[in-house]
Amino acid sequence: MKYSSLNHNSSPTSFMKAVINGLAPDKGLYFPQEKVILSKDFIESIKNIDDVEICYEVMNKYVGDEIPKQKLIEIINNTISFKIPLKKIDDSIYSLELFHGPTLAFKDIGAKFMAQCLDYFKSSYSSKKITVLVATSGDTGGAVAKGFSSTKDIEVCILYPKDKISKVQERQITTNGNYVKAIEVEGDFDKCQSMVKKAFNDEEIIRKIALTSANSINVARWLPQIFYYFLAYKKINNKKDNLFSVPSGNFGNICAGILSKSMGLPIHHFIASTNANDTIPRYIKDGLYDPHSTKKTISNAMDVSDPSNFIRIQKIFNSDMQKLRKNLSSFSFNDTETEDAMRLLFNSYDYLTCPHSAVGYLGLKKYMDMNKISNVNGIFISTAHCIKFKDVVENSINTSIKYPKSIKDILDKEKKSLSIDNYSELKDFLLSRV
Ligand SMILES: *Cc1c(COP(=O)(O)O)cnc(C)c1O
Repeated sequence: MKYSSLNHNSSPTSFMKAVINGLAPDKGLYFPQEKVILSKDFIESIKNIDDVEICYEVMNKYVGDEIPKQKLIEIINNTISFKIPLKKIDDSIYSLELFHGPTLAFKDIGAKFMAQCLDYFKSSYSSKKITVLVATSGDTGGAVAKGFSSTKDIEVCILYPKDKISKVQERQITTNGNYVKAIEVEGDFDKCQSMVKKAFNDEEIIRKIALTSANSINVARWLPQIFYYFLAYKKINNKKDNLFSVPSGNFGNICAGILSKSMGLPIHHFIASTNANDTIPRYIKDGLYDPHSTKKTISNAMDVSDPSNFIRIQKIFNSDMQKLRKNLSSFSFNDTETEDAMRLLFNSYDYLTCPHSAVGYLGLKKYMDMNKISNVNGIFISTAHCIKFKDVVENSINTSIKYPKSIKDILDKEKKSLSIDNYSELKDFLLSRV
């Protein structure tokens, strides 16, 4: 498979190059050049196929012969090594729980897949020391740190804003031993992000170190998210219409879902559920793409006002607004509505959700109510475990929740990080590691 840039000013490249570069030289996102369509037979017999084999069928055309079959199977096996349950809430509503991975959020899946691809490709692309450099506003840092835990000779540097991420998130970044360097930045996420960008453009650094980003737009983080739509479909044993509501920030997850439909998976409709950052709901309503400044909300992993993956969704529908609206609805919810939904799910269904997942539930309900739909499989994606947002959840449901053992263990570990304030300190640090 070749990957072309959605900015159309770079030549098509291999899967390996797309993974290593992250972004095309013209700063466009990579997109697979050919459409992958799976056979009807495969989809109809999916119930009898082993999970790893399903994911292999889903992924192998995107990777092509750049990773041998046995190796790709091994990578997939390690990627989906935790359970992905479809929990029934009532007769027409289900929660697809993607938070049983090592850092309790769905980003574990993409991060694990990407880390193993890079590890496989590393010897063929550089003799220099390889460093993954990434800025995080919360969940990405931990997922990337854990994803790379078994790759050798790749160093991971994670920049995070001091006092602006939750305690659990901080411990997930700062307690990983030597291969992860946690860098605490005096400032906000944007400052972390701009330091990372500067390093990628710093000639002295690039000459000495092979820098790679583990950004969410990387095809090796984006594509494996297709897996869980297929795995969810496998678990459904009726012929009702399937709806997916996806709590969305950068729109990578939902874009993977839409791609799974274009590969032949029978999904009737998608709902992109957002918090107060409502650029896409407004766009679908009135056709104007007009990002406002980003608002801070309790579902902070979705505080994005100019979602980078939306261009990939446009590509799938050939920028045809009618097709887009036929396949995708999008609704925005404020923090009060989100808190009410967490409380309702807890009180009426004894079901705990994180604020992001609650937004997903709200979007699903709204679509079903508006269209007077009931006899369907309405699935909202639960993107993180409620404990990652302990204070917000406890406040909403007025009940305290307990840490699972895996989290208790890391809270007891000693935090190790380097504090920095400006770019030259980051540069000195990176160069001192060569
Ligand atoms: C990253 C994240 C999201 C948003 O996913 P996108 O693919 O960026 O739309 C939603 N919920 C949680 C918990 C996340 O960490």
